[in-house]
Amino acid sequence: MHELALVRSICTIINEKVREFGVSSVVQVKLVIGALTGVEDTTLKACFEVYVQESPLAGAVLAIERVPIKVRCRECGNEYETGLPFAACAVCGNKAIKIIAGKEFYIDSLEVE
Ligand SMILES: [Zn+2]
Repeated sequence: MHELALVRSICTIINEKVREFGVSSVVQVKLVIGALTGVEDTTLKACFEVYVQESPLAGAVLAIERVPIKVRCRECGNEYETGLPFAACAVCGNKAIKIIAGKEFYIDSLEVE
């Protein structure tokens, strides 16, 4: 399962930080996830809750910030948000675009005690 693999790698990173800074418990983990990653919030949260049981991360809240898909028109440089499938440029009608946001997946911050 895609989400479980992600949770595993997130927890590995956080546990390293927990050890490094001698943190006793983690209250909240904030993730930034782009709309193009295909990661579902509910599945990710469910995996996280199960995975962190009986670990220093047990009880930590997973907060997720979603980043919408943003593209730049290769013809006129117009930047706009779009869903899937990608919308053509509203300025010039061109369909050749470059993705500039939406692929994010990273730990933004940790709230600890
Ligand atoms: Zn354009």
